[in-house]
Amino acid sequence: MGDGHNFRQLRECILALSQASDWEVARKEWSLVDISEADEPDTCLCGHFPIIEICQIANRVTGRRTEVGNRCVKRFLGFRSDLIFAAIKRIRKDITKSLNADAIAFFNERGLLTSWECGFLQDTMSKRALSPAQSATRQRINEKVLAAISRRGFRGPD
Ligand SMILES: [Zn+2]
Repeated sequence: MGDGHNFRQLRECILALSQASDWEVARKEWSLVDISEADEPDTCLCGHFPIIEICQIANRVTGRRTEVGNRCVKRFLGFRSDLIFAAIKRIRKDITKSLNADAIAFFNERGLLTSWECGFLQDTMSKRALSPAQSATRQRINEKVLAAISRRGFRGPD
């Protein structure tokens, strides 16, 4: 591919952990279960180094798990983890900003958000002018999300 991402190598690694032997079927067995930012640069299954934005994926059929870089997860498995990482960058830069829909859905699914928090984030997602109390609540939730991401090994319920 010319940019250090070896799709054949990635595919072989993923196939070895899948039940299906056909790539198009095998990839459907996988889902995105966790994201994190590595303290130390890591190597993707495709051989690409360095990767910082790490996605943990799990196979629903075989129960196997593995880690892949954000780029490969988007490119080859079609998970929009890039949108979640974009939301993380946004709130890290400005804690008063809102998470986006992808991030809210992901962190809710991972059990990080309470159902009240999830509802609050959805209700206020596109609001620019929050009341002081709403703004404080948004920041508190954002800080919780950032803390979970920086703690490598954050694992929500499966
Ligand atoms: Zn890769």
